Amino acid sequence: MAQGEGQIRYHVTSPIEAPNNRWTGVGPERLALTTEETESVARWYAAATALYQLWLDSGEIRRIREGRLLDPNGQVTCDGLKLARTLSARIPTRLWLFRDTDDGAPTHCPICGNELDTDVKWGTGTCATCLIQV
Ligand SMILES: [Zn+2]
Repeated sequence: MAQGEGQIRYHVTSPIEAPNNRWTGVGPERLALTTEETESVARWYAAATALYQLWLDSGEIRRIREGRLLDPNGQVTCDGLKLARTLSARIPTRLWLFRDTDDGAPTHCPICGNELDTDVKWGTGTCATCLIQV
């Protein structure tokens, strides 16, 4: 990905992917990330993926775990947002926020509460202020 924007998210094999290459993870070498940035993404991805895998478990604790993923103040979300802000200094990056599709399509940013920009190529909407995509 020479230009464009990056995205960090839970659900794919690589934590970073290009918008025009949606289902194929883009390696950090193509994004020209520094070693520190690559390690930061890898650390965040490991934590986010672990939490997501736990969420996949059924049972009564699922809702509790989902709460951690949906919580805009949750550790994984905060870490992901921090990473998106850091990477955006060089590569426009959004955090793909977790949401349960059973909850319907969101219309407002879960962080700032502003209406989502729904003019997006993928997902439901984006908030340019908060650097999130849903
Ligand atoms: Zn927002």
